[in-house]
Amino acid sequence: MGSNNQNNIFFHQLIEDLQQGVCQVDHHHVIQFINQSLANLLGHSADKMLNKSIFDFMVEEEQTAWKHLLIQNAGQKIFSRGLVLRHKDNTNIYTRISLTPMFDDQDQYRGAVLEVVDDTDHRKQDIRLRLLSSAVEQSATLVVITDDMGVIQYVNPRFCALTDYKNDEIIGQNVKVLRSAAFKAAELADVWKAIVSGNDWQGEVSTKMKNGDTFWSLMSISPIKDEQNKISHFVAVGEDITQLKMAQSQIEQLAYVDSLTGLANRVLFRDRIEQILKNIARNQSEAALLYLDLDQFKRINDSLGHDVGDALLMHVADRLRDCVRHQDTVARMGGDEFVILLTNIDGVAGATLVARKILDIMNQPIRLLSHEMIVTPSIGITMAPADSLNADILLKNADLAMYKAKTQGRNNYQFFTDEMNAQAIQHMETENELRKAIDSDQIEILFQPQVSISTYELVGVEALVRWNHPELGTLSPGKFIQVAEETGLIIPLGWKILKQACSQWSVMKSRGLSLSKISVNLSARQFRDPDLLEMMQAVFERTGFNPLNLELEITETLLMDDIDYAVSVLKQLKNIGVSISIDDFGTGYSSLSYLKQLPIDSLKIDRSFIMDIPHDKDDIAITAAVIAMAHKLKLKVIAEGVETQAQWNFLKKNHCDIAQGFMFGKPMSPADLLKSQ
Ligand code: C2E
Ligand code: MG
Ligand code: MG
Repeated sequence: MGSNNQNNIFFHQLIEDLQQGVCQVDHHHVIQFINQSLANLLGHSADKMLNKSIFDFMVEEEQTAWKHLLIQNAGQKIFSRGLVLRHKDNTNIYTRISLTPMFDDQDQYRGAVLEVVDDTDHRKQDIRLRLLSSAVEQSATLVVITDDMGVIQYVNPRFCALTDYKNDEIIGQNVKVLRSAAFKAAELADVWKAIVSGNDWQGEVSTKMKNGDTFWSLMSISPIKDEQNKISHFVAVGEDITQLKMAQSQIEQLAYVDSLTGLANRVLFRDRIEQILKNIARNQSEAALLYLDLDQFKRINDSLGHDVGDALLMHVADRLRDCVRHQDTVARMGGDEFVILLTNIDGVAGATLVARKILDIMNQPIRLLSHEMIVTPSIGITMAPADSLNADILLKNADLAMYKAKTQGRNNYQFFTDEMNAQAIQHMETENELRKAIDSDQIEILFQPQVSISTYELVGVEALVRWNHPELGTLSPGKFIQVAEETGLIIPLGWKILKQACSQWSVMKSRGLSLSKISVNLSARQFRDPDLLEMMQAVFERTGFNPLNLELEITETLLMDDIDYAVSVLKQLKNIGVSISIDDFGTGYSSLSYLKQLPIDSLKIDRSFIMDIPHDKDDIAITAAVIAMAHKLKLKVIAEGVETQAQWNFLKKNHCDIAQGFMFGKPMSPADLLKSQ
């Protein structure tokens, strides 16, 4: 017994000295023994804990679980299970418990010994987590956490404040709902690609708020990986930089925009012109620089005051903006001087058109306060690359030309070079005269025979326009079609031609000349005319012409401009029975495979290929190939400009369908055509 007691004391001492906590409970879970380490861990004295239920020292959430465990499974051994105990000061103590049940000699369960290990690491982690989450919760930075599919799992209060979303409105949604139009879907796809491959991404993101407004943030997005190194989440952390962006764009505005008119200023203009000149050198386009100075602006400014002067300049700026296309630049160089840079312009004619539009608009009175006034401009024009490809030289040229305009009596435009001025004048005269000619009987249609190569029969005619000018004599289309096209006169002219062609065809038919086809040329502007179909049907009705007898000749370049639009118009034309042929084939850039997409009926091989047959080996090869390939695509082939027997023989050998050219007749009047048959 004595040694037994001895042993007891020894073991007690041993247990007291252990670093690890130990306690013993009876089968009612009442503490019978507790060592100092465990009491210390919980901040109590050992005495106070004796005879209390062990559950009293657990945090509430643990009590239920452990009651269940200890009561239902009494007598089970438990190994290293986590348990959160409660410190005297109410903080959580993370421990790991091992429990060994005790039985009496009748094998009755009598209680258990609990070994308690302080799980400090866990505790530290908990503290860290709590700190972190409160940092995230209170942060001025916005935080979004998504799962690996981009479904939002967490947003912090800052995010909610910025976007106006409530937690439960946004959690569970895909981040895509936050993308604003300013942040392209393709950009988002790029970001996604980067982060799913495990990389961090940082950049500016425009985010859509709940009400649709947007804000800019500088975002860092990082993938989070689980133990298997698989991405489980993404964390996005961002700063709201809307203010910064606004400030930036204001600074840019100040640096590049004229504050009075909102037009580009000198600096921005300089930038643009350098850029454009570089492009011109590369893609062989043309640009025009217009220098514009208001006539007598100083007088208005001095007599009516600067406020009126400023208001006037703003009006002028608006009017100038209205005169140009979106891609052109209007800048204010200071005072009442403006420059306009026109890109991709159609030479002197194109620049003239804009200059005249400006003069027209500026010659309409402006009402300011109680004053009504007209401020006319003097405009100087220089062309790039014709005059120069250097920005300084171009500006000087345009300025000089502007002074020329002033000395010519103001309210006009002048080109830098004399030839250009002559061209512009010529152009304008042609336009004025043509406008009158359309309403007179100066417009005549000639017909050129088209002959079947297999049967040598006359199968059709091409209608070709002539202008019988009272002083200059008969003008061929080369002299006026371009002017008509640029000024829009081609539209009324085109209707006149179609009407005449259709009614002449009926006349010829009534005189016994029955042709299966009449070909009429259609220009780009006509093709794009929204009234094309309606007007065409009106002409057919008025002239009693059957559309099945009409073939429209269209150039390939015209079709290439906007293929979708071209296809839709061609289809509508086909629907009403009109056939389509591609004129001047081979002079554009298109290929036969490209033409396959278009609903067309025939090709006209350009005269330049036929001209040198049979001498030019290349032309022979190309023409033969075009015929063969066109036939594969079920297109008829017409050879233009056939003048010799040798050309005819070559075309016949290669199964070309139709020939047109001086060999069978020049363009002629209906009377001559009837005579020739
Ligand atoms: P295009 O449609 O390719 O017309 C063929 C041109 O070649 C015609 O010139 C015709 O006179 C000429 N030609 C025909 N056979 C021969 C030949 O064997 N040798 C030579 N050296 N030339 C030949 P034209 O009448 O001066 O017409 C020139 C262009 O003007 C036409 O080319 C067409 O693009 C356009 N055009 C003519 N009439 C009209 C029209 O009514 N409306 C529109 N929008 N354009 C037209
Ligand atoms: Mg033609
Ligand atoms: Mg042609």
